Amino acid sequence: MAITDKVYLKNHQQIASQLERSFPRGAFKGATLDILYQGEGLAKLDDATRDRVLDFAEDFLDCDCEANPHCGCPERKFVRYLLELRAEGLGPDAIVDVMGDDYMLYAYPGDVLSFLDDSVRTLEAVEALADVDGQPESGEQARTLREQLVR
Ligand SMILES: [Zn+2]
Repeated sequence: MAITDKVYLKNHQQIASQLERSFPRGAFKGATLDILYQGEGLAKLDDATRDRVLDFAEDFLDCDCEANPHCGCPERKFVRYLLELRAEGLGPDAIVDVMGDDYMLYAYPGDVLSFLDDSVRTLEAVEALADVDGQPESGEQARTLREQLVR
């Protein structure tokens, strides 16, 4: 399962009752993207929740793909967001705190840690492949990224 399958809305019950609709707890579930982030229910949300929901939509759902928001861009952008927080030096607990403040989302720190470990291993594989293929620039790029994640 991708990390984005393990990112949840912090006050899901409260939001569902404000919208008077049920939808999944997972932030990236198809129905959540439709009902919460694309729906007409925004006006029913309290101010603090609406601000976070709008921030999320602006930051992750703003692509022009025909299949938006089911095109995969939101997930890719969120992964980049997590990696950027890590590159800024944040650990899994701090990353979970920040996504809560920014977007009212949460994940389990253990899942974030596994995701970061997997990312580092993926970059190591990219480095190794680039060396084998004689593509030093790609290898160097992956190495720089990896060093940002493990520092
Ligand atoms: Zn897209």
